[in-house]
Amino acid sequence: MSHRGKEFVGILSQTEADLRRLAGIPDQYRVLFLQGGASLQFAMVPLNLSAQGDTVDYVHTGSWSQKAIEEAKKYCQVHLAASTAEEKFCRVPEQEELSFSANPSYVHITGNNTIFGSEFHYIPDTGGVPLVCDASSNILSRPMEIGRFGLLYAGAQKNIGPAGLTLVIIHESLLGKARPHVPTMLDYKPHADNDSCYNTPPCFSIYVAGLVFQHLLEGGGLSAIAEANRKKARLLYARIDSSDFYISPVQPGSRSLMNVPFTLQNPQLDAAFLQGAEQAGLVGLKGHRSVGGMRASIYNALPIQGVEALVAYMSEFERSHA
Ligand code: PMP
Repeated sequence: MSHRGKEFVGILSQTEADLRRLAGIPDQYRVLFLQGGASLQFAMVPLNLSAQGDTVDYVHTGSWSQKAIEEAKKYCQVHLAASTAEEKFCRVPEQEELSFSANPSYVHITGNNTIFGSEFHYIPDTGGVPLVCDASSNILSRPMEIGRFGLLYAGAQKNIGPAGLTLVIIHESLLGKARPHVPTMLDYKPHADNDSCYNTPPCFSIYVAGLVFQHLLEGGGLSAIAEANRKKARLLYARIDSSDFYISPVQPGSRSLMNVPFTLQNPQLDAAFLQGAEQAGLVGLKGHRSVGGMRASIYNALPIQGVEALVAYMSEFERSHA
């Protein structure tokens, strides 16, 4: 099947139309199906939205914002509008704590901090400066007001579909501003001008993403999946908070609906907890190597039964080890 043949062109345009309906993407935004992961966006964003010597503002809330900042520093002056590093990233900053530079080209946030388990539950007001959001780990988990952003990007592999696809949603006024000499593949405009077929797009990942969008639409759209996600998260946080055997390192107002880190009051039991969990069929619970402890990633695809099984296991483990 050629990526320029009518079968795939049909798949691509249906996929985009379904995503637009699902996420409520306004007409002034272009949807780009790219490659290179969210990590390539760490470079594409400054290369397309800032000129040499410009200052750009970043909100530092964890390991992924750190990577985005390090990459942006190669191309512009980075001003930290806020950082919660000194509090071990146990929360995201409030609007009142954001202190923007005089004339930034854009403001960047990490919408959900996959590793530390915090999430923005409000959209920062930037006073008209384009807001860029790394939405890799919470895109499509709940309705988002796309019109408040200049650009959103996300690697597909959490809530969208198979790895290999990167989604970019960009306001059309931000196209055509790439730095001179930027490689063509790193300029948003040729991708937009060619409907994501400047070169061969990740066809199979796009096809499967399209099936996921249809599935979400059939299930009642983003408000329905948001309700299911809230229910799952509430169940798990309630279990963590119900005794001091388990500890959530994240402040309640910033807790992520997608990634739930927790520690045991006695970290010497970590290995036994993880081993028992695996025996019970509960896998992938080891916290990220940079923070330790446990982390339950409860993305869209995880049914509530998965969280119920985890909560039951946690209660049983506490009974036998407290
Ligand atoms: N940003 C966030 C918030 C992420 O969670 C990840 C991946 N876990 C990345 C960026 C990097 O994404 P990719 O592997 O697609 O480059």
